[in-house]
Amino acid sequence: MKLSDLKPGQSGIIIKVTGRGAFRRRIIEMGFVKGKKAEMLTKAPLKDPTVYKVMDYEVSLRKSEAELIEIFTGEEIQPSNESEKFPLILNEDKLLSLANEQSKVINVALVGNPNSGKTSLFNIASGTHERVGNYSGVTVDAKEGKFKYKGYTFNLVDLPGTYSLSAYSPEELYVRKQIFEGTPDIIINVVSASNLERNLYLTTQLIDMDATAVMALNMYDELEKSGAKLDYQSLAEMIGYPIVPTVAKSGKGIPELFDQVIEVYERRSPIARHIHINYGEEIETGIKHVKKLLKEKTQLGIDTSRRYLSILLLEGDKVGEQMVAKFSGAKQILKERDIHAQYIRDDFREDVETAFTDARYGFIDGALQQTFKVGKQDSLKITHRIDKVVTNKILGFPLFFLFMFVMFEGTFFLGKYPMQWIEWLVAVFGNFIDGRMSEGPLKSLLIDGIIGGVGSVIVFLPNIVILYLFISFMEDTGYMARAAFIMDKFMQKMGLHGKSFIPLVMGFGCNVPAIMSTRIIESRNTRLITILVNSLMSCSARLPVYLLLVGAFFPKNGGLVLFGLYITGIILAIIMSRIFKKFLVKGEDLPFVMELPPYRMPTLKAMNRHGWDKTSQYLKKMGGVILVASIIVWFLEYFPQGVGKENSYIGKIGHFIEPAVKPLGFDWKIGTSLVSGMAAKEIIVSTLGVIYTGDGENDMLLKERLQAEQASDGSLVFTPLVATSLLLFVLIYFPCIATIAAIKNESGSWKWALFVIFYTTALAWLVSFGVYQVGSMLGL
Ligand code: GDP
Ligand code: MG
Repeated sequence: MKLSDLKPGQSGIIIKVTGRGAFRRRIIEMGFVKGKKAEMLTKAPLKDPTVYKVMDYEVSLRKSEAELIEIFTGEEIQPSNESEKFPLILNEDKLLSLANEQSKVINVALVGNPNSGKTSLFNIASGTHERVGNYSGVTVDAKEGKFKYKGYTFNLVDLPGTYSLSAYSPEELYVRKQIFEGTPDIIINVVSASNLERNLYLTTQLIDMDATAVMALNMYDELEKSGAKLDYQSLAEMIGYPIVPTVAKSGKGIPELFDQVIEVYERRSPIARHIHINYGEEIETGIKHVKKLLKEKTQLGIDTSRRYLSILLLEGDKVGEQMVAKFSGAKQILKERDIHAQYIRDDFREDVETAFTDARYGFIDGALQQTFKVGKQDSLKITHRIDKVVTNKILGFPLFFLFMFVMFEGTFFLGKYPMQWIEWLVAVFGNFIDGRMSEGPLKSLLIDGIIGGVGSVIVFLPNIVILYLFISFMEDTGYMARAAFIMDKFMQKMGLHGKSFIPLVMGFGCNVPAIMSTRIIESRNTRLITILVNSLMSCSARLPVYLLLVGAFFPKNGGLVLFGLYITGIILAIIMSRIFKKFLVKGEDLPFVMELPPYRMPTLKAMNRHGWDKTSQYLKKMGGVILVASIIVWFLEYFPQGVGKENSYIGKIGHFIEPAVKPLGFDWKIGTSLVSGMAAKEIIVSTLGVIYTGDGENDMLLKERLQAEQASDGSLVFTPLVATSLLLFVLIYFPCIATIAAIKNESGSWKWALFVIFYTTALAWLVSFGVYQVGSMLGL
């Protein structure tokens, strides 16, 4: 009987928790464990929810949730003859042992493509003789069978074969309903090994549903015969379903299959886990938004997977829509769904369902690419042909470095022209105000503080937009996924995973979203290391500093120096992650699938939106943090009035930290800008802009002012060596405050945020110290 059938004061022994994975986990965490006693206490006035007592805790459950818990009270037993008293009075031990027996009933459903061998498997396991046939649609409705094995009773259901679980055909709808409402304890996903790609499609939907399953890799004889090789152990670990090779025709592998079913049922399987298929940024964003609204606006029970429902809604699934229709927030949810569905359509130039389908095949391609070696010949799909080249052992890497190099050269050179226009505009604007205002603090604030500060940063906007466009292009075409793929081996040497590669490359744009994107990495250890080294990936905020210094001191080979800086960051990230892996976060990792979505030409619309998103974020930052910081720096530099820069507040701060930065070749002004750069790295440039103005040389570019700056002894402050030391320091030290906040959020503790502050600053100091001291000795 069900927990929901208990009357107040009545109790029973829990024999089974049905329902999907996450729900079961939650319920079990609450204490509803097999073999424990549960008692009904009170019902809420409206009869829902009900309070139960289990393991001395009081827990309230809704009726829909309590229905998924099976209990044994003893009432279930019918008296064998009239003279026996009813109800039977059972002592605790007897009750427990009867309950234990009851809990050994496992409901199993066979789910798979037509012709995958479900009925053959059903027959051989249950000893019946249903008709098998080598054509689709033989099994029209569910057949049920029963058998005993190793002390367990299996109720086996043979469901109609389907290629997918979308609600298109009656079969598909029927199977989906069975999985949801019939709530089998375990699903056996029968997969034909002779056509893995197509068969695994259904598996991806089971994963989305968070169904508890074991995979029967059927027709294994045919796979072996074809000469193909499948590393099914690795595949199982990646997808979180145990895989057992079977030959249903002869019965080979069937006992092992049911052994695995028992392992999973008893929660002993080390393989069984719930994974998320990563649908790519655009779709995942849609899922996230819809899911959030589902959480806020509906009272769905914990037995409903909100992620799955969000996927259904985005796909336009009618059943999914019916599920939310009864809630008052339904309109709002569907509106949000429409917005994101439109984004997805714009991006993919395809309908949403196709976008999902493509992503699922991308997941399958990625999984098979890592585990499957074809026997005779592969299909000649264009995607596969391109993949042969870009993921080639020999060609892959040079191609990748070529793309990267083009990206940085492009950022540097293409950005140069719009940069000159903006520089010109800023100068014109400054002169305009200069001629129209009388001297005084307000004029100084406007010209030196705001125009000098914000203006010196805004000129780099084109470069940043170009860098973002390159990154978006790599993501949208699908190349980024290949890059992750070819980098996997290398990443593993770093102690990371191919999937870490994407957050690392995104770090070149901005470390904040990059750190958030580490969520695609399923292993906690790998994710943590990826977070910790992410700020060594030089974000675009550092670009203004580089461009300023490179333009001033390495005008001839700017692109190369820039490339070198990024490479230095990467090398340091490699060294640090190896160190972290060795000493900080030990432990083995589970493998997981790297999706290989089909190649796609990104739409102009999508590129535009991505580019504009980033640009508007950047402009907001200008108007916010950078403006405020510029004003603060100006204030500290202007006051107390009339004492000269050396004795202003900022001079005092600068002189205070000078001893710490002197060994790196920096004067107090550089030291000061480094301090202000902790808020955001562009502020280094705006601070330099503020500190180095006000000498009546307003029409000189900041670049020229830096080149001309002299120390008190008449020597130049900036030499190429000092510039190098400074470039390296800016690359490595303290990531900005926003990044620190992101690290705290994603790692879940301040400990790691503080750790990053400390190690990056120490590392920066050491590297710059080494470079400057060695360079000075060599007389550079
Ligand atoms: P269903 O549509 O999924 O129920 O598949 P059936 O059980 O009807 O099987 C379809 C065909 O595949 C039949 O001709 C079976 O004899 C054959 N078959 C089933 N299992 C295997 C297997 O493991 N190896 C081989 N070679 N053939 C199999
Ligand atoms: Mg059949």
